[in-house]
Amino acid sequence: MARSGGTEGPSPQLPSLFDHLPPWEEDDRAEALTAKVVFPDGPPGDFDYLVPPELASRLQPGQRVRVPLGKGNRLVVGYCVEATIQPVGQRVLKPIRQLVDERPLLSPAMLRLTRWMADYYLCDWAAVLDTVLPAGVRHRAGLRLTTFWAPNTEALAKLDLATLPPKQRSILQILRDANEPLTAPQLQKLAKCSGGPIAALQRKGLLVGRAVRIRRQDIVLPPEPRQPNLPLNPDQQKALDAICQVLHSGQHRTILLYGVTGSGKTEVYIQAIQEVLRFGRQAIVLVPEISLTPQTLQRFRTRFDSVAVLHSHLTDAERHWQWEQIASGRVQVVIGARSAVFAPTPHLGMIILDEEHESSFKQQQTPRYHAREVALQRAAAESVPLVLGSATPSLESWLKAQQGQYLLIQLPRRINDRPLPPVSTIDLRTENSGKKATAITRPLYAAMRETLQEGGQIILLLNRRGYSTHIQCPACGYVLKCPHCDIALTHHRTEQIALCHYCDHHEPAPSACPQCEFPGILYRGLGTQRLEVEVRSRFPGVPCVRMDTDSMQARGAHVRALEAFRTGRVRILLGTQMIAKGLDFPEVTLVGVVNADTALHLPDFRAGERTFQLVAQVAGRTGRGPKGGRVLVQTFTPDHPVIQAAIQHDYPRFAQTELSLREAFGYPPFCRMIRLVVRGPHPQPTAEFANLLAERIREQLTGVDPPARVLGPAPAPFAKLRGLYRYHIQLQSPDGEQLRKAVRKASEKVETPENIQWIADVDPVEML
Ligand code: ADP
Ligand code: ZN
Repeated sequence: MARSGGTEGPSPQLPSLFDHLPPWEEDDRAEALTAKVVFPDGPPGDFDYLVPPELASRLQPGQRVRVPLGKGNRLVVGYCVEATIQPVGQRVLKPIRQLVDERPLLSPAMLRLTRWMADYYLCDWAAVLDTVLPAGVRHRAGLRLTTFWAPNTEALAKLDLATLPPKQRSILQILRDANEPLTAPQLQKLAKCSGGPIAALQRKGLLVGRAVRIRRQDIVLPPEPRQPNLPLNPDQQKALDAICQVLHSGQHRTILLYGVTGSGKTEVYIQAIQEVLRFGRQAIVLVPEISLTPQTLQRFRTRFDSVAVLHSHLTDAERHWQWEQIASGRVQVVIGARSAVFAPTPHLGMIILDEEHESSFKQQQTPRYHAREVALQRAAAESVPLVLGSATPSLESWLKAQQGQYLLIQLPRRINDRPLPPVSTIDLRTENSGKKATAITRPLYAAMRETLQEGGQIILLLNRRGYSTHIQCPACGYVLKCPHCDIALTHHRTEQIALCHYCDHHEPAPSACPQCEFPGILYRGLGTQRLEVEVRSRFPGVPCVRMDTDSMQARGAHVRALEAFRTGRVRILLGTQMIAKGLDFPEVTLVGVVNADTALHLPDFRAGERTFQLVAQVAGRTGRGPKGGRVLVQTFTPDHPVIQAAIQHDYPRFAQTELSLREAFGYPPFCRMIRLVVRGPHPQPTAEFANLLAERIREQLTGVDPPARVLGPAPAPFAKLRGLYRYHIQLQSPDGEQLRKAVRKASEKVETPENIQWIADVDPVEML
């Protein structure tokens, strides 16, 4: 039940003429047109307002409105999410004052989707709306009209220019020389004058203006020469047929396209989208941000006339422009990262989510949505197919495919029957036992030399950035930690700093122990910076490039690095997981995994899954050309089942083992999970509140069917971050709705102390 916005101040004096009538009685059945409004910068929940007759024909859900709120009747902007005729009874509703948008920003279908998100992810509807609508759209970025002025030649022909004041004459001269219309600020600058002379010319009718919508940058991509479709191999054809069959059924179905790396999934997507276009509909292709490479985009742009790309480097104005283009139906294919799932395509025909296992599809801020889950909702609501593609599917999707909920389609072979590259392990326990441990062991070094001699290219993966991963005193054992986080500082040698990877705290790298002043403090653990130094010193003169978040900060750095590698100018590409995915370079004949164990022992039930994915994905970067390729994996645990499955390219075996473990421990995908994280500046009160919250939730969940589990509170693995102590509580149950209900109820029953915050993360992917 919506609350009303409060009373509208003192009611106007009634004319005395009515004074003798009996007291006026409210008709409980009186009906009025009302609107439900939610506020991004106001109280949570929704509020009813009266729609005044003059707005009745113009107001639609999805528009923003300006309404009075609270006792002071402060005017606040909110989203109208519903308009209904309903009995208002005794309630005195305040009227809407103004429309902010002339047209709805969201379709009814998108409103329903955001409503679902708010319920499912336990957050405020308005917060979801603010996420779904890019800031550039909300602020109409770049769409201010700018007037360009040109001389009115007709009027000027009848005029003796000598009669004009010098400044006005000079403005007309400038325009004649420029031979194109100019804006008033441009004219003022060129003529070194104020706005006065321009206004005077305007008044005299000697200038004609034209209002133009300008964009900060031209973002209509130049057309690419068209390329024909590739003739599909039989596996691809079967996959395409299956997708088209779902498409033609006019019903929603989720398809899991499990295709090994290099099996040609993208070509299947492209030809499926061509079928979508035949019906005058649009397609959305979601990829991890990191895969929005020129290479990927090129493949789409040579096949379709109008492709809109939504990536994180767009300016607000560019994003707004794209949004309008998409909403108008002029765009055939929208490609983008996570948030492109909200693209306002008027006739959606299909959603494709490539690399569906990627954790970057989950947003790590409120609303903590997963694009795969939202895509599923949207595709179901709009009765269109959802295609999930991966060489290493998430166990969530794999289980659903095994159970028949999703349609499983496989591409078990690489294009042209190229073999998957042979993978062998290098045992770091024996290889690194010598005097001086190096990042690159002897066998890896030998393989690199050989590859370079044969003219091949090399990818080296190390999933840790920085130079040294921790700084420790050999005398007293002290490890340099972030003062705000419970995390060891990483040494970044180029910048000469010790850096926290969570809060960006940094301090000068010490040469003596800050605790015992021992002068020989050690820099331990291997990061990508140090790997780069080692590669450059052991392969002098061989061009090499490092790709990690430190080296790729500049706009376009990513594109330039990949381009240098693609053209062969760079021979060795080394970096973090950034280089593990999606790249298709046929000349790469060697992939080295410098340390496969970096993620294996993290306290996270998905540690094994992540390790498998990383090794399998990076292994997939080689052997893509006629020269073949091989993979060397350095590890301390070569016999670990996850490493073993990865080196044999055996995803189904990995999935089977991992699923039985998850089932035994009752972890997802065999249950739904909500993780609550409580944060506060002092450990004691934070822990106490976490206890109270857990208690309230336990009360809600005792004796429920199916049974639910509440674990914790316990200190989170990162017990302190950015100056705040962290405790977490894990809720597990086969029934997610049951958990959501419990959290909602409990949150009504606890009062969160000042200073303390808590968040609910539904279907968490981050357990640290
Ligand atoms: P995946 O996404 O499954 O890793 P890609 O779609 O990147 O695989 O395809 C790998 C390579 O094979 C690409 O260079 C692509 O152009 C090529 N390819 C795909 N399908 C065909 C085909 N039917 N015939 C020839 N080459 C193909
Ligand atoms: Zn920190």
